[in-house]
Amino acid sequence: MKIVECKVNHLVNPLGYAIDRLRFSWLAEDTKAKKQKDARLQVREENGGCIYDSGFSDELDMTGTSVDLDLKPYTRYQWKVNVRADNGDEAESGWNWFETAKREESWQADWITCAKEDRLPVFHKTLRLMEDSAERDQSEIASIRKARLYICGLGAYSVRINGKMISKEYLAPYCSNYKSWIQYQTYDVTDLMKSVIGIDVSLGNSWYLSRFGWASKPGDQAYYGKNFCMIAELHVWFEDGAKKVFCTDDSWTVRRSNVTFSGIYDGEIRDDTLPQAAETQAAAMEMWTSDKKAASLSEDCRPLLTERYSLPVIPHEILKPVKLIHTPAQETVLDIGQNLTGIFRLHVCAEKGRKIHLQFGEVLQNGSFYRDNLRSALAEYTYVSDGREKWISPEFTFYGYRYVKVEGLPDLTADDFEAVAMYSDLERTGTITTGHAKLNRLIENAVWGLRDNFLDVPTDCPQRDERMGWTGDAQVFCDTACDLYDGYEFYRKYLHDLASEQELRDGAVPDVVPSFGYQNAGSVWGDAACIIPWKLYVQYGDPAILSDQYESMRSWVDYIRRTDGENHGWREVFHYGDWLALDHPNLKTDTTFGGTDVGYIADLYYAKSAEIVSKSAEIIGKQEDAETYGKLSDSIMENLRKDYFSQTGRCCIDTETALILALKFDLASDREFCRKQLQKRFAIVDNKLQTGFVGTPFLGDVLTEAGMGKLAYDLLLSEEYPGWLYEVNLGATTVWERWNSMNADGSVSSTGMNSFNHYAYGSIVGWMFRGIAGLRPADGSYGYKRVIIQPAADERIHFADMSYRSIAGTYRVNWRIDERNHIHLQVSVPFNCCAELKLPHMPKDLPENVPGNPVFSNAGDGTCILDPGDYSVSYRMEE
Ligand code: BGC
Repeated sequence: MKIVECKVNHLVNPLGYAIDRLRFSWLAEDTKAKKQKDARLQVREENGGCIYDSGFSDELDMTGTSVDLDLKPYTRYQWKVNVRADNGDEAESGWNWFETAKREESWQADWITCAKEDRLPVFHKTLRLMEDSAERDQSEIASIRKARLYICGLGAYSVRINGKMISKEYLAPYCSNYKSWIQYQTYDVTDLMKSVIGIDVSLGNSWYLSRFGWASKPGDQAYYGKNFCMIAELHVWFEDGAKKVFCTDDSWTVRRSNVTFSGIYDGEIRDDTLPQAAETQAAAMEMWTSDKKAASLSEDCRPLLTERYSLPVIPHEILKPVKLIHTPAQETVLDIGQNLTGIFRLHVCAEKGRKIHLQFGEVLQNGSFYRDNLRSALAEYTYVSDGREKWISPEFTFYGYRYVKVEGLPDLTADDFEAVAMYSDLERTGTITTGHAKLNRLIENAVWGLRDNFLDVPTDCPQRDERMGWTGDAQVFCDTACDLYDGYEFYRKYLHDLASEQELRDGAVPDVVPSFGYQNAGSVWGDAACIIPWKLYVQYGDPAILSDQYESMRSWVDYIRRTDGENHGWREVFHYGDWLALDHPNLKTDTTFGGTDVGYIADLYYAKSAEIVSKSAEIIGKQEDAETYGKLSDSIMENLRKDYFSQTGRCCIDTETALILALKFDLASDREFCRKQLQKRFAIVDNKLQTGFVGTPFLGDVLTEAGMGKLAYDLLLSEEYPGWLYEVNLGATTVWERWNSMNADGSVSSTGMNSFNHYAYGSIVGWMFRGIAGLRPADGSYGYKRVIIQPAADERIHFADMSYRSIAGTYRVNWRIDERNHIHLQVSVPFNCCAELKLPHMPKDLPENVPGNPVFSNAGDGTCILDPGDYSVSYRMEE
C-alpha cells in the first residue's frame, strides 16, 4: 500500500496561501485492502517537535480531516499520515508541508510608485545581505536558513534576482475585485541568495491598469487602477536564529523597460532600439491616492493585501505551428493547429530598426487571416529589432488564438515560433475516450475550452474584448470542469471574489466577477453564488466551502427576495434567460435570447438557490435558516406550479428548456406527462436541439433519466446543425459560443458576439462522465465515497473508457460492445469506497456465464453493490 495525493486544503505543499482552517486529505493505492481501519496524523513545525498527534484513530477521514491549530506567520509546518488497513496493510506518507505567509503580521514595507510614462517601469534595489568582506561571504551564505519574498505589484509583476526569474508565474498578483482585496504572493528564494543581490521587479498594466471590461474601447482608462505600484519584503533567516528584513521604500530606483505599450486586450509593443532611460527614484506611497474621483482605491490599501487564493498561472503545453500558410490575401500566417490561450516565443534575427508585427485570430476566412470577431481587441504584438538575434515573448498580456499573422519577417519558418498555453495550474482528474473519433475530438475541444478559459478567472472567452468572469458561463460549466480537473481552489478564489462584490451591492451578484464596473444582477448568472459552492461540496465533500460562502449564498437569495417583493418583481428585472437558444419566436441571425419565459427560469433558479441555502444551513448547523429557506423554496415551487402548469399537468411553456428544467428540478408534478410533452416537443422539430445556456447542460441527464437515452445519443452524435459534431466537422478545436458560430460553408455567422472558444456547451462532457460512463455520487454522499455507476451504453460509440480521480480515490469505468451485441464491462472502485453498479441493458435472467462472478454476489435487478476492487463482466445485452 502507498499513500498518495497528500493535500492540505486541497493543495499539495502550499506556500503562502490564505489558510482559515486546516483540512488534510490523502489516498491509499496499491493495496488489496478494502477499508482504512485507522490512521494517525502528525503535524510538527519544520524539523521541530510535534504539535499535533491524533494517535491511531478510526475517525480520520481520508477525504478530509480537520485539525484546529494556531498557526504562526512565516512558518513551515510538516505533516504525515500513517494508514492501517483492514487486511493488516500499513503505509506512511512521509513528510509533506504547508507554509504560512504573513497572516496577521502587518507590513513593514511601503508601497512604492513612479510616474506613469510611455515605458513600463522596472523597480530596482541592490541589497547587501551582509555588510562585510567577500571572504566571509561563503560561510555566511551557507548560514542562511531560508529566504522568502512577500510581494505584490500592480497591475502585474515579475521578479528577477541577480537576473534570474524567481518563478514561472505569469500575471501575478492576478485578477480580483481590487477594490476589496489584493493578493500577494510568497516565493522561496533561498537558493538565489548571495551577499549582494540585485532585485528587479518589472511591472505591467494587466487587468488592473489596462482598459478592460464591458464595452471598453482602445484608449479607455483602466477601471480599477491609476498608478504602477509595488510592495515587497524580503525576509532572510539565518541558522543562528538571526533574521533580516528588507523592505520597499523610496530608496528603490526605477528604470524603464523597452515595452512601450501593454494591455490585456490590445497586446504589447516592445522597442529594443530605445536608449536606456535614466534611473529615477521611486516614490514611497503612504496613501494610496488622494484622488477620490476615480474608481481606484482611496486609501492606504495595505489592509487589502491578502495571502494568495489564486493558483499559479504557468506555461503548460508548448505547440509548434503545424503549417506556415501564404494566404490568398498575400499574408504570412502560422497555423498552430489548436485554438489556445497564452503567449508565444518568436525567434527574431533581423536588422536594427526592423518592425515585426503579429496579429492573432481564431479562424481563417476564405483561406485568409481573420479577426473581426475579436471586436475592439487589437490582440497584436509589435517588436522593433535592435539587430540582435533572440527569442522574444510578451510579458504582461495574453491572446486567444490559433492563427498568427506575421509581418516583417520574410524568412520566417514554422520553427521560429512556439505557442505557449498559459492557464491556472490545476490537477487533471478525469479522462474519457470513446470508440467514436469525432466524439473524442469534441471531448478534447471541451478540455481545451477549459484550459483556455481558466486563466485565473473562469472566463467566457479568451480572445475578444471580454475575457471576463461571466458568472453564468462559470456556473454552467463548473460540473464538467470538476470532472476534468480539480476545480476546488480555482473556484474558491472566484467565489471569494464573488462574495466581495456582493458586499459592495447588498447581496446582488453582478453578472461578471470581478465586475470591472458591470452592474446587472440576473438569474442563472447570479445563482452561481449558490450553485458553484454546492457543486464543490458534492464533488469534494468539504463543508468548508459552504461555511465560507454561506453569507454570500444567503445574501443573494435575500437580494432576490427583496427584489421580488409581493408582486413577482424578480421576474421583471433583466435576465439573460436561455441565452443563445434557437427557439426565440423572432429568430434572426443575431438574436441572443431564447424562447423560454425568463420569469419562469428566474423563479425556478430562485427556488433552487433557496433550496441550496437551506441544505447548506442544515450541514453547517444553522437549523433555523434551514427551515426558513426550505419553506421559501417550497413556496416558490408551488407558485411556479400554479402559474405555469395547467390543471392536468401540462407545462404552459412548451419549449425544450422549460420541460427539461421541469423534469430536472422536480417541478412537474406529473413526470410522465411532462416526459411525453418533451418527447412531442422534440418530435415537432425533427428531434433537433433548440436549447441555450440554461437547457443544454441538462439535456443528457434529463433525457437518459427519463428513458430517452437514445435521443440523448442522437443529439450528441448528430453531425448536422445544430449540434456538437457539426462544429467538429467544421474543424473546431475548441467549443463554440453559438451553435452556428460558423455557417456550413465555413463563413463566420456574425461578428457582434461570436467566439470560437466559449466553454458553456462543452458542459455536455459532464454528461459523458455521469451518463455515458455513468459515474455520479450516490444521493446523500458528498465527495464520491459512495457512488452510483450507471453507464448508458450505446453501440454507436462502440466503447467508453473513463477514469476519474475523485477526492476519495480513482474510479474507472470501461464498457465495450462487440459485434455479437455483448457488452464487456470493467469497473474499478477505489480503496475505502463503495459503488452501486446498475448494469446497462441487463437481460431479465442472469446469463449462464455470470452467476459466479463477484459482480453479482449482491445483485438484484441488475444492481450490484461493489466493494473496492476491480471487476469485469460480460453479457448479451437486452434489446
Ligand atoms: C458573454 C457570455 C455571457 C453573456 C451574458 C456575452 O458577451 O460572452 O458568455 O454570459 O455575454 O449574457
